Amino acid sequence: MAGTPTARLLDGRALAERMRAAMAPEVERLAAAGRKPRLCVVQVGSHEAAQSYVRGQQRGAERWGIDLTVHPVAPEGGERAVRKALRQLNEDESVTGILLALPLPPDMNARALQHAIEPRKDVEGVHPENLGGCLYGRYGLLPCTALASLALVQESGISLRGKDAVVVGHSEIVGKPVALLLLAQDASVSVCHKFTHDLASRTRQADVLVVAVGKAGLVTQDMVKPGAVVIDVGINAIADASASGGVRIVGDVDPGVAAVASAFTPVPGGVGPVTVAMLMRNAILAARGLPPPDDAGQLPLFHL
Ligand code: NAP
Repeated sequence: MAGTPTARLLDGRALAERMRAAMAPEVERLAAAGRKPRLCVVQVGSHEAAQSYVRGQQRGAERWGIDLTVHPVAPEGGERAVRKALRQLNEDESVTGILLALPLPPDMNARALQHAIEPRKDVEGVHPENLGGCLYGRYGLLPCTALASLALVQESGISLRGKDAVVVGHSEIVGKPVALLLLAQDASVSVCHKFTHDLASRTRQADVLVVAVGKAGLVTQDMVKPGAVVIDVGINAIADASASGGVRIVGDVDPGVAAVASAFTPVPGGVGPVTVAMLMRNAILAARGLPPPDDAGQLPLFHL
């Protein structure tokens, strides 16, 4: 019957918890060997969204038994001060992972600063050397949200080989790496963006649909192929007088797709918690030391 939810909910919180339980012994082993993961977040100024992301990362790290400290940098020092902080952390062997909290003040070049992070400590997978791993199928420190999206596709049980996958959004940190990871799993991948004509005709072809744009309600039920797996990466705060604080968090996909999809991720509680879990996975990998590039392709994606 139209409008009746039939899709399986892909529970990101449950997957994140399973990942934590599976990797907990590795955290203990590293701690016993004096190599406990220690993350440091460089936070410039006090932007509310940046602070909120950092709070989420702090909660995740605490849960995983991973140290996370915030390294504040005054915005008045400009990019020079941020580079100095990154250099210090790159050289500090007690710091095993470095993050740069975004957004930065508008006069700073986020990409250039991310590239100043030592690749082996780049737990967000944003340095070109690590992003390149998506191209080469080298599963080292890859972008956390892209990894999370793929993990949730796998959670649905669908085999990607020969399937049509559509990614909406082509940012360097989500859309593009997701597309490459899907391609590496032998899916036929299309990438859509704001210049794509007739988005609906594309999304309706998708056996697997990943949406990462930042526009509430962009994808509606009629844009989804019956039986598709839908991964909603979007996070949008919308005004809702009945919600606590007057704001509700929704994704890019109308929850009505549950009536046609075979599986979909909720927002909140889908991609978000798994992204934090992937950050912790990367933190463990960085502390343990990555294997040489030739062997890295052997690394399993989601477990150590
Ligand atoms: P972004 O850098 O702003 O990229 C958004 C992408 O969407 C761009 O490629 C943009 O294309 C494209 N786009 C804009 N309007 C479109 C339209 N009407 N149709 C199709 N594509 C369109 O954002 P992002 O960092 O990739 O993040 C995307 C969303 O995911 C945001 O809501 C963000 O908050 C969320 N997010 C969630 C998590 C999580 O853990 N759940 C993590 C990261 C991000 P152009 O470049 O051509 O404008």
